[in-house]
Amino acid sequence: MSLLKETLLVFTDLDGTLLDIHTYDWHPATSWLNKLQDHQIPVILCSSKTAAETLEIQQDLGLEGLPFIAENGAVIQLDVRWDDHPDAPRLINGTPHTEIRRLIDPIRERTGYKFTTFDDVDERVIGEWTGLNRERSALARLHEASITLIWRDSDERMTQFEAELVQLGLKFVQGARFWHILDARGGKDQAVNWLIDEYRKREGFVPTTIGLGDGPNDAPLLDNVDYAVVVKGINRFGIQLQDDIPERVYHTTQPGPEGWSEGLDHFLSASRHIT
Ligand SMILES: [Mg+2]
Repeated sequence: MSLLKETLLVFTDLDGTLLDIHTYDWHPATSWLNKLQDHQIPVILCSSKTAAETLEIQQDLGLEGLPFIAENGAVIQLDVRWDDHPDAPRLINGTPHTEIRRLIDPIRERTGYKFTTFDDVDERVIGEWTGLNRERSALARLHEASITLIWRDSDERMTQFEAELVQLGLKFVQGARFWHILDARGGKDQAVNWLIDEYRKREGFVPTTIGLGDGPNDAPLLDNVDYAVVVKGINRFGIQLQDDIPERVYHTTQPGPEGWSEGLDHFLSASRHIT
């Protein structure tokens, strides 16, 4: 049985996975993006970016109207057709940004932990950090339910900080470039499962799922899909998956969008049939 049919859902990380880590180019993935669209298979973006930023990237990729997961699962954008849903157009999944800010500011004052958040700087600095233009950098600051930061302190102090966050019901997750603080109850895993369940209820089928990611914050995504593609990444820690067997998990030899296509070739190419 081929996986390439309407009951498939593709969940994908952005930076370092579908988008090149340095240039944000996705063109090596174009052929697969077109093929998935031809088969009406939803490509659901799932990253640490804000919803404002992801809406623009969706348009660039020709994926507008589909659901997506922003801020590492703290925000879930619904399919545009689900406008009768009480949370439409999107669900804020946990503690809001301003409340997280209110919880961590006193910790930083008391302990002097060295880190710089996106709220501490303007879009010019975010542009320097990310290589994004001024307009996209402004959208990258519009967090609704998480905080993004650069850690500038020791690994030991990070462990202490993380323990304090856990006490407050928060968690600390690492993306491609930055660290993120969000509600401990939310995450890419929780958001993926919520969307799978919503497809099941609304579309009346149990979807088969493929996930693609390159960083440690993608492990919860990749552990909760049927087939996982680990795109070769730059992170020094790599990704540890719970069930890393060749039948379920493919590790690409190429990074970014080339690796993304390589992973889909592996699981979805015409010659491959999975029963
Ligand atoms: Mg990534």
